[in-house]
Amino acid sequence: MHSDIVNNISTITNRIKQACVRSGRNEAGVQLLLATKTVPAERIRIALEAGYTLIAENRVQELKEKYEALQTTPHENHFIGHLQTNKIKDLLKYNVTCLQSLDRWALAEKLHQRLLPEHRQMEVLVQVNTSGEESKFGIAPEHVLDLVARVSRLGTLKIKGLMTIGILSGENGKVRQCFRLLKSLQQQIMDAAMPGVIMDTLSMGMSGDLETAIEEGATMVRVGTAVFGQRPTTDGYYWNESVTVYE
Ligand SMILES: *Cc1c(COP(=O)(O)O)cnc(C)c1O
Repeated sequence: MHSDIVNNISTITNRIKQACVRSGRNEAGVQLLLATKTVPAERIRIALEAGYTLIAENRVQELKEKYEALQTTPHENHFIGHLQTNKIKDLLKYNVTCLQSLDRWALAEKLHQRLLPEHRQMEVLVQVNTSGEESKFGIAPEHVLDLVARVSRLGTLKIKGLMTIGILSGENGKVRQCFRLLKSLQQQIMDAAMPGVIMDTLSMGMSGDLETAIEEGATMVRVGTAVFGQRPTTDGYYWNESVTVYE
């Protein structure tokens, strides 16, 4: 249905607005990114045509499958999934402007090796595992500063900020801790004043916890389910280390 998506987005933009009002923030400071994993291109296009043009996939295969169908509808692609180094070459074909899931030096190094000969740069966010859950991707908080410093010296990857997936917990306090940790890491990196490092993006908050994320300083929320409906696959399929062998 056409209208369900547009209605859902307006519900989300209202939630964003309310959270901004409550926390004394300007709503222009919070971008909405649509997480489109498992969503068919026709349904994504409805959102794009309604003016919500920042979208992201989790798997290179899905990016590839929907690429042609969406090519004629202006939009911007980010990538928010775990990226295996053997998929980098493919990823670079599809105009992804920002990789939000940079989580290890080996990935940065391989991206650099591909980008350098093409004289290309790519924006990245460093994904941090703020929940301490073994099953989640992202670099451990204590290693973030070091990774940012090393990546900043490459020149091909432009660091714009940090990304995290908060703990999936019914307890609001626990997810809030995750977002606070990301905010404090952002501050530590800013204090270190590394050349070439911009730290203005905090990508945190999803369908279930975007208000908390905004209260804690999110500049971008990533929303899937609340716009497109429930997904047929569980998130573990995208998020857990154990399933990457099937990619
Ligand atoms: C799927 C996904 C989202 C969106 O989650 P919803 O709960 O469906 O809003 C956000 N970020 C990442 C990294 C995701 O994989």
